[in-house]
Amino acid sequence: MHNASNLKILILDDDHFMLRLLTHMLTNQGFTSVSSCDNGADALKKIDVADTCPDLILLDLNMPDMDGIEFVRYLVDRYYTGSLILVSGEDERMLQTAEKLVHAHKIPMLGYLHKPVSPEKLFALIENWTPPASKKPKSLAKKVYAAEEIQAAISNHELVNYYQPKVSVATGEIISVETLVRWHHPTDGLILPDQFIGIAEQNGLIRDLTCQVLINALAQAKKWQQSGQELRMAINVSMDNLASLDFQDLVVNLVKENNLSPQKIILEVTESQLMGADKRIPLEILTRLRLKRFHLSIDDFGTGHSSMTQLRDIPFDELKIDQSFVHRAWTDETLRAMYDASLSMAKQLDMDVVAEGVEDLNDWELLRQTGCDMAQGNFISPPIQAVDFPRWTKEWQNRVRSGLLENHDPA
Ligand code: C2E
Ligand code: CA
Ligand code: CA
Repeated sequence: MHNASNLKILILDDDHFMLRLLTHMLTNQGFTSVSSCDNGADALKKIDVADTCPDLILLDLNMPDMDGIEFVRYLVDRYYTGSLILVSGEDERMLQTAEKLVHAHKIPMLGYLHKPVSPEKLFALIENWTPPASKKPKSLAKKVYAAEEIQAAISNHELVNYYQPKVSVATGEIISVETLVRWHHPTDGLILPDQFIGIAEQNGLIRDLTCQVLINALAQAKKWQQSGQELRMAINVSMDNLASLDFQDLVVNLVKENNLSPQKIILEVTESQLMGADKRIPLEILTRLRLKRFHLSIDDFGTGHSSMTQLRDIPFDELKIDQSFVHRAWTDETLRAMYDASLSMAKQLDMDVVAEGVEDLNDWELLRQTGCDMAQGNFISPPIQAVDFPRWTKEWQNRVRSGLLENHDPA
C-alpha cells in the first residue's frame, strides 16, 4: 500500500538548478524516494527497471536532446502506468496542448506547473495522485463489435433513443430535443454510439440504423405533439445517409405518416462527415429537404477543416458550437476566442446558435452574458429516456423558477 511519502518520484529536467530545487522542495515536504535525471535516455533506463520505475514523473518539456513530448511517446511504448506532471517555462497554450497530447496517450496526468514552480501548487497536484490499480482494469476497455452484432441489434430492436433537450438561454424554455441513440446490449449493458456508429457506417448498416432511430424518434415526437408539448425533434444524420437519393423520401414519408410538420424536424449533420469527396448528392438532398422546410443544423462546428465551406454551400438554420469550445471557455482565452468567433459568425448569418457541452453554472453564465440562443449539456440534462422526460421537465422548470436566469456572481 502506498502512502504519499514513499511515492517514487522522478524529476526529469536538463536544468540542474531546477533538479536541485524540486528535489529540495519534495524532500523537505517528507517525500523519501525522490530521484532525478538531466536527460530522457537516463530516465527511460530507470523506467525499464521495476525497482526504479517511478510512480510519478515531473517532466520538463524543453530539453535539448529528447524533449518532453518525445519522452511521452517512449512512455507510451513502455506501457508506463504511473502519473505525470508537466513542468515548463512555456506559455499557457503550449502547456495545454502538451497536456491534451498526454491525455490522448491515456497517461494519467495530474496537471502542469509553470516555472518558477510554486511548492503549494506542486503539492496540491501530487495530492491527486492515485495508484495505478484504481485505474480502469483492461477488461473494461472498449469492446469492438462486429458488423453482424450491430445488424442483429438493429433487427432485434435493441437500439434505444435517448433524448437531450436544448433550452433557450434567455427564457429557459425547452425548444427542442436531440435524439442520441444507445444500444441496450443484452449482456454488455448500455453501449454509447461511438462504439457502433462508425462500424455501421463502414459496413453499409447506417441506412437501417438511421431508419430505426427515425421511426422511434418520430413516433415519440408524435406522442409529445399529441400531449401538447411543442418540441422540435433533432436527429443526427450520417454523411452516408446523404449519399443516396432515397433518404429524403424516407424522411419525408415518415414525417407525413406521423402527422408532423417538417418545420418540427431538425437534421443535424456533422461537418467532418460532410467533407467526403463528392458533395453533390448530399448537397442536393440537404437543399431539397430545406426546400420542404426541414431545419438543417451544422453539428460540432469548429472541428474539422471546412467549416466555412460548409456554411457557404449549405443553407443551415442552426449552428452548434462544438463542446470542446464551450466548456471552460469562460476561463480559457483560446477557447473563448473560438467560442466568440463561432457565435458571432452564426449571428451574422442569422442562424440559431446552440452551445453544446454546457457542464456547469460558469459555462451557462457565459452563454447568458454573450447572448447565445440555446444551451445543451449535462448542466441542463444528460441524454435521458422519453419516460423520464416529464420528471425532468418539472425539475428544469423549478430550477428556472428558482433563479437560474438571474445574475450570479462570477466564479
Ligand atoms: P453529437 O451529435 O455531437 O452529440 C453530443 C454528444 O455529447 C453526445 O454523445 C452527448 O451524450 C454528449 N454530451 C451531451 N452533453 C454533454 C456535456 O455536457 N458534456 C460532455 N462532455 N458531453 C456531452 P453520445 O450520445 O455518445 O453521441 C456521440 C456522437 O454519436 C454524437 O455526437 C453523434 O455524432 C453520434 N450519434 C448519436 N446518435 C446518433 C444517431 O442516431 N445517428 C448517427 N448517425 N449518429 C449518432
Ligand atoms: Ca448532434
Ligand atoms: Ca455535436
